[in-house]
Amino acid sequence: MEYEIKEGGVSQESDEEIQYLSGLENHGSSTVQRNNFAGAAADLEEDLACSVCLLLAVQPTTLVCGHTSCRVCLARWYFTSKKKECPMCRQAYHGLPMINIQLRNMIHKLYPDKARQRNREVLADEEATSLVQNYDKQLQKKNSSSEQETDIASFCAGIFIAICSFIVIYLAWYWQSSDTSLLVLKPVQTWKPKDVCQWVEELSWAAPYSSAVLDKHIDGNMLLSLETTNLESVFNMTDSMHQKAFMFAVELLREEGIKMPANLWEYKAVYPGRSLFLAFSMKDFPRTSLLYMYIYFYDDMFLPFVRITTGSGKNEPKLSLSQVRKL
Ligand SMILES: [Zn+2]
Ligand SMILES: [Zn+2]
Repeated sequence: MEYEIKEGGVSQESDEEIQYLSGLENHGSSTVQRNNFAGAAADLEEDLACSVCLLLAVQPTTLVCGHTSCRVCLARWYFTSKKKECPMCRQAYHGLPMINIQLRNMIHKLYPDKARQRNREVLADEEATSLVQNYDKQLQKKNSSSEQETDIASFCAGIFIAICSFIVIYLAWYWQSSDTSLLVLKPVQTWKPKDVCQWVEELSWAAPYSSAVLDKHIDGNMLLSLETTNLESVFNMTDSMHQKAFMFAVELLREEGIKMPANLWEYKAVYPGRSLFLAFSMKDFPRTSLLYMYIYFYDDMFLPFVRITTGSGKNEPKLSLSQVRKL
C-alpha cells in the first residue's frame, strides 16, 4: 500500500483499513487467521517502506505532509532539487525534520534482520553517509539563522514602536506647550504688563505705544478700564484716529473677556478639534464638510469661509461689532 496522493486516495485507504480490520474479526479458523496475518505482515512491510526507494526505511523521517522516507533519500532529494519539499507530493516543509523514532523502533522490532541489513548498507555507503551529514548541517544552520532573523526582526520592531511612541508623546507635549504663551488662552483680567505689551505690539500700528505699557505697569484690569481721555496721559497718544482704533480694540476685549484669535495658530489653540476637522475633512470630503459647517457652525465658520472665498464682504457698507468679531 503506497501513500500516493491521488484522487480518492485517502478514502480508498480507509476502505482497505476497514476491510482489513473487519476481516480480522470475522475469520475464525486458525488457518485463515494465519493466512491473514501473513498477508497483513506483507502489507505492513510495504507500509514501512520508504516512499522513494520502496525498501525498508532506514532512519525513517516523516514530513509535515505525512509521507515517510529514508533520511538519505530525503537528503538526496534536497540536494538534487535544492528545495525543502517532500519528494512524493512536493509539499514544502520548514526547519530540520527529525527521525521518526517510534517508526524506526517498530521497524527494528518487526524486521530485525532486514533492518540491520539495510542499516549496514547505508552506513557502508560513504556518499550516503556524507549526504545525510551535510543535510543535517545545512538545515540546522538555516534553522538557527532564521531564528536569529526572527530575533532581529522583533528587536527592530521593538525599537520602532519605542521611537513612534516617543514621537507621539513629544508631539502631544509640543502641541500643548507651544500654545501656553498665546494670549487667546488667557482671560484679559489675568494679563500681566508683558501680555498687554504683546497685545499692543500685535496691533502693529500701535507698536510705538508698547513701551509705555511696561513703564506704567498696565495689566489686564487697567487695560479694560481705560477711557479715551486716559490715552493721551498714559500712552501719549494724541492722534484721534489712533485713539478711536485703540478704544475699538479694547471694546472687543471687554465684550469677550479674552482676545479673539487673529491668526491660524491662535485659532488652532482655541479650537483644536475644529482645526483638525478643517485640515482633514476639507481636503477629503469638501462638500460634506461644507454641509456640516452650514448646519453646526454657520456663524463661526461657514459665513466667514464663504465671505473670504467669494469676496462678497468687500462691498458691504458697514459691519456691526459682533459681525467683525466673528470674522
Ligand atoms: Zn529510501
Ligand atoms: Zn509528501
